[in-house]
Parts: sequence; C-alpha cells; structure tokens
Amino acid sequence: MPHTITVLPGDGIGPEVMDVALEVLDAVSTRFDFEISSSTHLVGGAALDATNNETPLPRETIEASEKADAILFGSVGGPKWENLAPEIQPERGALLPLRKHFGLFANLRPGSCLPALTHASPVKNELIPNGFDVLCVRELTGGIYFGEPKGREDRNDEPVAFDTMVYKKSEIENILHVAFKAAMGRDKRLTSVDKANVLATSVLWRETANEVAVQYPEVTMDHLYVDNAAMQLVKRPDSLDVLVTENLFGDILSDEMAMISGSLGMLPSASLGEAKNNGLYFGMYEPSGGSAPDIAGQGIANPIAQVLSVSMMLRYSLGETAAADAIDAAVQATIDSGLRTGDLFTGAEGETKINTAEMGAAILKNLSYAP
Ligand code: NAD
Repeated sequence: MPHTITVLPGDGIGPEVMDVALEVLDAVSTRFDFEISSSTHLVGGAALDATNNETPLPRETIEASEKADAILFGSVGGPKWENLAPEIQPERGALLPLRKHFGLFANLRPGSCLPALTHASPVKNELIPNGFDVLCVRELTGGIYFGEPKGREDRNDEPVAFDTMVYKKSEIENILHVAFKAAMGRDKRLTSVDKANVLATSVLWRETANEVAVQYPEVTMDHLYVDNAAMQLVKRPDSLDVLVTENLFGDILSDEMAMISGSLGMLPSASLGEAKNNGLYFGMYEPSGGSAPDIAGQGIANPIAQVLSVSMMLRYSLGETAAADAIDAAVQATIDSGLRTGDLFTGAEGETKINTAEMGAAILKNLSYAP
C-alpha cells in the first residue's frame, strides 16, 4: 500500500521550499523502496485568491487530507491578505481550523543546532562545542488558552480579567505517551516540565508523568520547574533530550528553543493527533517559520526546515525510520560541507553561499552517500 499524503504548499516561500522537499521525498522513496501517493491542494492566501476571498481552507483540501496519512504543509500568510476579516486570514482561517479538525493535540518542535552552525546560536559557543538537539513536546489543545471560564468583568468598580488553566488526567496521559514514544526513538531521556510548586494542574501533571513513566522503563525521566527549564535551555541545551510540557509553557519554551538554534530556516515541526494501533500518528508537518514575504519569489530561502519536516513525517506518520535517518544525515553532511543559504551565511572561511535549488541539489547528492 502506498503512503498517502496531501501537500499544501501555501504562500510566500512555501511553494519554493516545498519543491525541494518533494524531490527529497521522491529520492528516499526510491532508495528505501516505498511508494508515496501525493496530491497537492490550496491553502492560505493561495486558496483565498482562487476562491475570490471566500476561504483560506477549501472543503476539498480538508476532504483530501481526511483520506491521507499525513499533511505536508508549507506556510501561509503575507501582506496581501493581512487586511481581510480576521476569521478568513490565512493563519487563523486555515492553520488553526486544520489543527482543530484533525484533533492535533501534540506539537513537536526540535530545537537543534548542528556542530557547524554553533556560531549562529546566541548560546556561548564554548558551552555547546558539539551543538545540541532538543525536542519540545507541547500539549496543544488544552490548558489556559482554552479553559473556561475566561473573560473580563467589573468587580468593585474595577476591571478584572481571568483565564482558567484546566487539564484532565487523560489529556496529560495522551501527551506524555507521545513524549515517551519520541524519547524511545532518541536518547531515551525525558524531562517533564511543570510548576508543581505552585499550580494544581502541575501537581496532577507530575503525578500522571510518574505513573506513565512506569510503562517506559527504558526512558529516564526527570522533572524541572518551568523557570529552571528556561534557564537550562540557555545554559546547557546539550544536556537535554526531550522536553514535555503543557500548552502555555510549551509555547514559550519552544520559541526559546527556536531562538537558541540560530536559524528559523533549519527548524521543522509536527502536530500530531491520536496514535493509531500501529503506533504511528496522523500528523501535519511544517517549518517552524512562516512564509517569509521579505525573501519570497527570489529563490533564496533555506529549504532545510521543509526537508526536515519530510523527515519528521516519515518518522512519526509513515514509519519509514531509515529514510528519515538518511535525510537527517544528508542535511548534516550538506551543512558540514560549508554550503549555506543566505540566512546561514556568515562569510567565514569554508562557507559557500548558495540558493534554494542548489541547497536541494546538494542534499540530494549527499542522500546518495548517506547511511
Ligand atoms: P517568518 O518566519 O515568515 O520570517 C521571519 C524572518 O525569518 C524573515 O526575515 C524571514 O526571511 C526569515 N526566514 C523564515 N524562514 C526562512 C527560511 N526558510 N529561509 C530563510 N529565511 C527564513 O515570520 P514573519 O515575518 O513574522 O511572518 C511572515 C508571514 O508568515 C506572516 O503573514 C505570518 O502570519 C505568516 N506565518 C505563517 C506561519 C505558518 O504558516 N505556520 C508561521 C508564522 C508566520
């Protein structure tokens, strides 16, 4: 049976970097002998343009995705659509409804820095001689962003605003299983991040983490308070493997991780739904960055975040781990050889500045040598 995916290139640099990602996917499917059945659909500003501003998420895009094992997403948005009604703007009208429609409750964002790119990280280089590779697993559909009651009212003639942080045990269990399984495929170390010294939700989180840990005896788990986790990320990111945390903490920590990585153009992300019986997930895979309107159309964007989104898709939704490993190795070899798109280029000795297509060609070439 072929793996079925929907490809949603979107706007700005999305279609440019998607072309490279699809070439890489094609190459690994041949090399590792599996079949991909893909169909490309409209999303974001491209969909608004095609539907006379009716919707950034056409029904046909959703229906095709319902039949797929995964969605490979580019990026959406840009100045052209910024003045439309908020509910049909590309991010709000397409990304968030897609997450909701498919129950994508787990967000995986790697914060990694290859050894050859440590100069781009704001972390002191002597602290990260070998770079780092942390994965943040964030609960995406619960917590204070969605808890009720939330609102604003006058109390004693003074405006008061309130939000509610609420978690069900089952929600915590679900995200912890995703994180433990991710840790099993990595260095088998998991750090559960909470604020159990202050928050009732965090006390339940910690209790639940300890219970779920029993099912994964190979994984070493520890706990960090969120303030300490924020500090450890800038002090010793190379000491961390997988972090798991609730929605608000994960929102902040995953952005901190993107920052210390040094370049948005290198970072993929995954949003996963319920695990299937075979341990794989339906998921949506996309770069952590946006549509980069400032460089769109010039053919100079870094395609690596999109290429690594393919690698994550192969790992978490399609079960093609060897192909994912080969892509990761090819990207590392390409960076080690000194090739750099503009976002990574510093002019240092040994660096060569190249464009999107040249980066794609170099990754494809390294793929044929990759283990
Ligand atoms: P952005 O991530 O698009 O760009 C920020 C900076 O990073 C820019 O200088 C850009 O050139 C650079 N950059 C990002 N990806 C790059 C790559 N692959 N190669 C080289 N440089 C890269 O963020 P922004 O400027 O805040 O947003 C631009 C548009 O993207 C907005 O319309 C926003 O709503 C949208 N957006 C979409 C998503 C998404 O689709 N998931 C996420 C964030 C922002």
